Amino acid sequence: MPISILGLTRAKDNSQENLELTIDTLEDVALAEPLKASVKLVKYSHELLVAEVTLSAKVNVACDKCLSEFVQNLNTTFRFEFTDEPDESQWPITRDSHIDLIEPIRQEILFSLPTQNICQEECNGIA
Ligand SMILES: [Zn+2]
Repeated sequence: MPISILGLTRAKDNSQENLELTIDTLEDVALAEPLKASVKLVKYSHELLVAEVTLSAKVNVACDKCLSEFVQNLNTTFRFEFTDEPDESQWPITRDSHIDLIEPIRQEILFSLPTQNICQEECNGIA
């Protein structure tokens, strides 16, 4: 889902644009319901656009102890930098002034999910 930033590229530095995203599916992330994200795009300079993404996601995970599925809530804010010539911590702006927010969001969610999933403190494991 590429997003056009043509309006921002023509705007003054420090111009902002807000948008709401709904993401139905993400590769390797078992979304329990469509993910809602609020995005603030800020044009810092001709070369640099920053996206602040605030999202709440419900992700289906399996308990490490009893293997039952439960929903892990993730409420978080990510900050992504977009530029024409990205380094490894940045993301590209295409020649026709589009950015893709889905892949950065997907990767950050995968990083942010706990490595251990326990359905509840008293989980007794497989009965
Ligand atoms: Zn459990």
